[in-house]
Amino acid sequence: MSDLRDVLDRLGVPRDVVAVASGKSWRAGAGPQLEVCSPIDGSPLVSMNEATPDDVSELCRSAHEAFLVWRTVPAPQRGQFVRRIGMRLREVKEDLATVVTWESGKIYQESLGEVQEMIDICDFAVGLSRQLYGLSIASERPQHRLAEQWHPLGPVGVISAFNFPVAVWAWNAMLALVCGDTIVWKPSPRAPLCAAACQAIVSSVLDEMPEVPPAVSNIAIGRTQLGEAVASAELLPLVSATGSTAMGRAVAQTVAARLGRSLLELGGNNGMIVAPSADLDLTLRAAVFSAVGTCGQRCTSLRRLIAHRSIADELLARLIKVYENLPIGNPLDERVLVGPLVDPRAGEAMDAALEQAKEQGGTIHGGGRVTEGVPAGGTYVRPAIVEISADAPIVQQETFAPILYLLRYDNLDEAIAIHNGVPQGLASAIFTSDVREAERFCSPAGSDCGIVNVNIGTSGAEIGGAFGGEKETGGGRESGSDAWKNYMRRATNTVNYSSDLPLAQGIRFDV
Ligand code: NAD
Repeated sequence: MSDLRDVLDRLGVPRDVVAVASGKSWRAGAGPQLEVCSPIDGSPLVSMNEATPDDVSELCRSAHEAFLVWRTVPAPQRGQFVRRIGMRLREVKEDLATVVTWESGKIYQESLGEVQEMIDICDFAVGLSRQLYGLSIASERPQHRLAEQWHPLGPVGVISAFNFPVAVWAWNAMLALVCGDTIVWKPSPRAPLCAAACQAIVSSVLDEMPEVPPAVSNIAIGRTQLGEAVASAELLPLVSATGSTAMGRAVAQTVAARLGRSLLELGGNNGMIVAPSADLDLTLRAAVFSAVGTCGQRCTSLRRLIAHRSIADELLARLIKVYENLPIGNPLDERVLVGPLVDPRAGEAMDAALEQAKEQGGTIHGGGRVTEGVPAGGTYVRPAIVEISADAPIVQQETFAPILYLLRYDNLDEAIAIHNGVPQGLASAIFTSDVREAERFCSPAGSDCGIVNVNIGTSGAEIGGAFGGEKETGGGRESGSDAWKNYMRRATNTVNYSSDLPLAQGIRFDV
């Protein structure tokens, strides 16, 4: 594995990373000091002054100016810009993945997967740039044409979380760019190098395409105050925010107060029902990947395993065996499957949740710190499985750590009720060989989530589908399918090519 500084040099990240970037130009922020340490070993990665709300305002003005030009560029040409970003991402895939691992702590394989998602969404967006279709509608009036057009919306604010420090930007930015929008991105303050690397990639493509207004892509690095500035910026008609439910609630209220649009991708509390007919080998692999991948720090991480009483004990015994042998350690080591938690506070939150689970009658398997064979300075934990009653209050909350609650059920009605009985509604799964159970889970009376899987775990969605969830997950949809419509405004055109002026609904109004 290369030295991080060499990696950043190859990516074109400036030696002194600063907090504000517009196109190819970077400048220092005048906000409070921000120190970022790696979850791997606590080593300092970067130190800078944050951007200020005034910087956000200025970036919004630049993004707006660029938008006035970009919106008139034909969409397929906008797609060529995104195509080149995708090509550059292919060249730097390993380097960018290395930066993702250093800042987020996720294992290198998963970081490669995250960069692959960026490449996939670029490909999707390039195809989309020739398919921003509107409907043609039958008019009730003679010699009238009724049709929809989709127009660029404006500069889009993007607020992102630490656990997908590059893919979430790409999901939003690549669609927004082909739709004719520009971007003001406030990345996670834990992952400024990832953001700088993305901006450097865009910069290198701007060098190849001088006709593109550089301020299509802007970044302001900082903490909550900057997110608030993005949410309240009048020049941003859409704010796409990914993070905790508490953050989403605050952003939604601020954006709604100025009658803007928000697209929210918030916390999950994802469940998997395991039916008596489930293939337990598949179930086991899917459950472990979903529950301990990214050390339980994915929005789609499996948190509740809802197992039929007839197979629960066998499943638990097999899970415990796998958990006991999970390789935990440095996420840059290709043999490791479980890296660190993002910081010591996340470790404390995990300890507190396990303590509460115990008080609420839970039986805990695993948990606790790992200190041997791991880099000093990181927060390494043993993933935990907790046998607990479905109505224990702790099961209602998303603890961003590898805790898997095992809940037992007797019939499918009960399993679905348990499954849906939490405030969040992101990802869900059923493992069954019974087609009636599978279809029931996918039906209107089944899972109430945005992602509903059969014989697939809760995490690891493809970019082709719309991604997002219901209830406290926020209701937003990003990525594939028709999620692009979030980034455009719809105009309904009625054109009269007759010599009369018939009114709709047959109204007579003769003057
Ligand atoms: P977080 O809510 O602490 O921070 C997310 C982003 O919001 C950061 O950029 C942060 O600076 C900003 N922010 C925080 N408070 C804000 C406020 N009041 N106003 C404006 N901006 C604010 O989340 P995190 O710890 O970085 O990430 C973990 C959370 O994100 C989990 O809850 C996880 O489920 C969720 N998440 C959801 C998705 C999804 O697609 N649904 C994807 C990734 C992460």
